[in-house]
Amino acid sequence: MDFSKLLELSEEKYAAYLLSQDLLYKKIPENQHSKLLNQSIACGKAAARDFAVADLREYCQQQTIEIDYFSENLKAENFRFVLAEFQLPNRIRINQSLLEAADPFLAELDFLKDQRVDEILLAHELYHYIENQQQLFTTQKQLSYRAGPFKKSARVHSLSEIAAMSFAKELLGLNFSPILLNIVLLFPVAPDYSQELAKRLLLID
Ligand SMILES: [Zn+2]
Repeated sequence: MDFSKLLELSEEKYAAYLLSQDLLYKKIPENQHSKLLNQSIACGKAAARDFAVADLREYCQQQTIEIDYFSENLKAENFRFVLAEFQLPNRIRINQSLLEAADPFLAELDFLKDQRVDEILLAHELYHYIENQQQLFTTQKQLSYRAGPFKKSARVHSLSEIAAMSFAKELLGLNFSPILLNIVLLFPVAPDYSQELAKRLLLID
């Protein structure tokens, strides 16, 4: 797979992709998109700059955050793999099976040279811990919308994903979007899905 075009995409493009995947996407007025994207990116970056910790695992120990590397039976038809997830209040799960399956493929990718993929996943999930602890913008922002006769208000979860990606990128000084890990880690087990995702990212305008 050729990553050159994906590596050139701006952070806003990746953020726009994540926003477009939100369940509430159609309820968000178009003239708010850009502001929300940029507020979320800024929120993730600021959290990374405030995070004065050298060792992520040590931080997890101090905060009694449990890191659980789990295994699963990888089947291509099940493309909704969980790469990693954060469970309230203090549990991070990382998919060991996907990491292992992708290992030979990762070694071929120049942009991942000298990177520890599980560290990037961990940083992303740590953002979700921090945003809840510190009640950051991404947990506070409410979208008000109408559903038939009702006025509703809800969180826009993709904003958290956007900020978590920016947090990991800033914290670890990455020169690529951590979203690329979705493509990379799924490629060995679900190549069709992985390539489809790469295509969709390139189509975002
Ligand atoms: Zn996340």
